[in-house]
Amino acid sequence: MDNYDVVVIGAGPGGYVAAIRCAQLGLKTACVERGVYAEGKPTLGGTCLNVGCIPSKALLDSSHHFEHLQLHAKEHGIDADGVSMNVGRMQKRKDKIVKTLTMGIAGLFKKNAVTWLEGSGKLQPNHKVDVCDRDGNTLSTVVAKNIIIATGSIPAAIPPAPVDQENIVDSTGALAFDSVPETLGVIGAGVIGLELGSVWRRLGAKVTIFEALPEFLPSADKAVAKEAKKLLGRQGLDLRLGTMVTATDTAGDKVKVTYTGDDGEQTLEFDKLIVAVGRVPSTAGLGAAEVDLALDDRGFIIVDDECRSNLDGIYAVGDVVRGPMLAHKASEEGIAVAERIAGQSPHIDLGLVPWVIYTWPEIAWVGKTEQELSGAGRPTAIGTFPFIASGRGRAMGELDGFIKIIADAKDDTVLGVHIIGPGASELIAEAVLAMEFGASAEDIARTVHAHPTLSEGLHEAALGVDSRTIHI
Ligand code: FAD
Ligand code: NAD
Repeated sequence: MDNYDVVVIGAGPGGYVAAIRCAQLGLKTACVERGVYAEGKPTLGGTCLNVGCIPSKALLDSSHHFEHLQLHAKEHGIDADGVSMNVGRMQKRKDKIVKTLTMGIAGLFKKNAVTWLEGSGKLQPNHKVDVCDRDGNTLSTVVAKNIIIATGSIPAAIPPAPVDQENIVDSTGALAFDSVPETLGVIGAGVIGLELGSVWRRLGAKVTIFEALPEFLPSADKAVAKEAKKLLGRQGLDLRLGTMVTATDTAGDKVKVTYTGDDGEQTLEFDKLIVAVGRVPSTAGLGAAEVDLALDDRGFIIVDDECRSNLDGIYAVGDVVRGPMLAHKASEEGIAVAERIAGQSPHIDLGLVPWVIYTWPEIAWVGKTEQELSGAGRPTAIGTFPFIASGRGRAMGELDGFIKIIADAKDDTVLGVHIIGPGASELIAEAVLAMEFGASAEDIARTVHAHPTLSEGLHEAALGVDSRTIHI
């Protein structure tokens, strides 16, 4: 039986990063991964690289170029009449990007001497892990001083809309359409619904999104959510808040959706329907019950602040534990656990994990929202800066959105930064760094920002906290 310092189960951004960091720290490491995502071959990279972050961003970029050419080429002096989209070629590009990156992980494993054990990891007593085939037969058993579980998450299902990956699809199916549906229904106006809804709308689909909650993007700052609702609605996303899909009926190539809302029961017919109502932790086949690994009532592995489970030497990271289901959160937890196993004392502040929604304009935030802070009775000072007043924004033709910085009214510490606008996904990094260092708004205001850049908006918003914005 092979013996390791660390066995990682799952090779998504939580698991593969943990495995590489363990190996860097001199620990003999193996990683068990069962995922077969494309071409019938097992691949590393998990949800994120295969059917999540990367393919969705590839399609968002392709569809953004397409729409941008149609709407804005003329004003730049570019004649681009008759632009058309070849969906097959767009998908091939996406698949190539995914393949390059997942093969890159295999290369990194080789370089770092991480052993990839292909199969499904099943916990056994005494720190043993069975590596099983798809039918549950044991291929091999390994033993490890430490085990890191990074088995991720899978799409949540709802009874009225059973996924068949033909007419009714989850996010994985929605990344693989081979043509643009004329009409597309989406259940869930969360991150996936908005991102994938945007992709297919930009390519020509008429998109209707059903959202159970009456409020749009409830975890975003209210002002950002309001602006996002206005801009996405203007683009043509038909957002139906406070609606519940109660039944679906697939007949031929169409899906009939019955839903209830303010106007009572209604039906609409679509070519495709995406179910994007959240994700649930993935522990099937892990053997959690057999070894008494504690799960909470929603199926998440219970861990402490340092990602330790109830079992000695067994850790869990990423989507399978509490906290935001984000790739960068999974990776940071993976690194921290590896370093803890190696005797170091890493630290992650889950309160400073940035959120990004890759619509256009992009939406990004870190820290507390205005409503959270006012609910907690914390006095704040707020500075905002609209992109309409940004020189670079104007040069780019990107005038929508704003940056909002919320600071403590007494000591000026930055408590939250909220952006809706061009390049928000990149701009937010400055805010995260500032907050990690406990910066004040004055620190950002005193920092020289290059001109003309979108990041000047952060500078101006920081000046605005002290009511001394220059350009508005
Ligand atoms: P996963 O990436 O889910 O990886 C877990 C791996 O474990 C899987 O490959 C699975 O096959 C394997 N596994 C499970 N059980 C076993 C077992 N018993 N034995 C062996 N292997 C096992 N997040 C972002 O931060 N930014 C984004 O832009 C973004 N976009 C997304 C877009 C979509 C469409 C989706 C679906 C998700 C997106 N996410 C995004 C979320 C992100 O993908 C996840 O937060 C991230 O992948 C979680 O990483 P993880 O390592 O915890 O789990
Ligand atoms: P989500 O939690 O973001 O949104 C799900 C939405 O569906 C919610 O608004 C919820 O109220 C709604 N909903 C739930 N049940 C419903 C029902 N029966 N009818 C109508 N609406 C219903 O989940 P998601 O969009 O599926 O994404 C899953 C996770 O993947 C996200 O939480 C996020 O962590 C991750 N993700 C991140 C990114 C990113 O970082 N850019 C992109 C995609 C996914």
